[in-house]
Amino acid sequence: MRDALKQQIVFALGMLFLATPAFGIIGLRPIPFTASISDTNYTKEQKAKVVEASKRIETIVNSDKFKQGVLDFSYQGKKKFVDTELTNEQVFNKIYEGAETLKPEVNHQMDIALTMYTGRTSTIGYTYPNVLRVWTNSKYHNNYGPCEIVGNVFHEWLHKLGFVHAFRYSSSRDYSVPYALGYMVETMCKNP
Ligand SMILES: [Zn+2]
Repeated sequence: MRDALKQQIVFALGMLFLATPAFGIIGLRPIPFTASISDTNYTKEQKAKVVEASKRIETIVNSDKFKQGVLDFSYQGKKKFVDTELTNEQVFNKIYEGAETLKPEVNHQMDIALTMYTGRTSTIGYTYPNVLRVWTNSKYHNNYGPCEIVGNVFHEWLHKLGFVHAFRYSSSRDYSVPYALGYMVETMCKNP
């Protein structure tokens, strides 16, 4: 009797373990990915674009098309991104887990904060490694549609997950995780 109970408990714990997202069966996404983009000084119009952009990011990251795009991504005939040791599957999992270097719990959420500034330079936005905040240049963002914001914010957020790219332009830089997937989500946003 006792043994039967013990077995049942072990079985129940095993099922719980399997049902935990971090250990879940690869391919299934039991918890939907969400995007939490906060902004400090955005105007009503700028804010509306960010709200729309975060909805689109959620739809894209939860889609099979995005997952397949990441898994199938290749550079010079190899299924690999530039400037990362991770496999494509590990890149996808890192995005889906949403564990930022500065906010490392696995919450399946994009956590990012935006502040608008007005700059005359050609800088679209900038950030620092020690904050989850990204400063966005109104010169560009006011003319951006939601899909350009999607691409830009996603690029910056990928830095917050620890992905890097070359400082200067090179033909391979477009194959880094921030550039490649920034472009990918922007394209998917424009062609849903
Ligand atoms: Zn970058």
